[in-house]
Amino acid sequence: MGQSFGFRCTRCRRKTQVGGGFEGGLGCATQTVYCLKCKTVQDIVVLKWPDFHPEEQTNVPPSPCRRCKAKDYAEWNMGDSCPNCGGNMKMKDNGDRILWD
Ligand SMILES: [Zn+2]
Ligand SMILES: [Zn+2]
Repeated sequence: MGQSFGFRCTRCRRKTQVGGGFEGGLGCATQTVYCLKCKTVQDIVVLKWPDFHPEEQTNVPPSPCRRCKAKDYAEWNMGDSCPNCGGNMKMKDNGDRILWD
């Protein structure tokens, strides 16, 4: 399912492994979000479609947060700050793949 990156906050040291934005895969698309309640950054499935029929995509209701089971999210994209403390989310692996700067 697409690629994901490890991020770690340089201030509160929370870490996560996510795609870092909107990403289309085979039969579904995910968006990186953070939970408004516990601030956990995670990927959720937002769209689904039958194989080879992307024009028939439907919205998927958000699945519960991995950590606290809440269902309220805000988008989080690569380069955004840490939703927990406002610190800098640094990409952990593949430092040579950082595209913004
Ligand atoms: Zn933080
Ligand atoms: Zn949560």
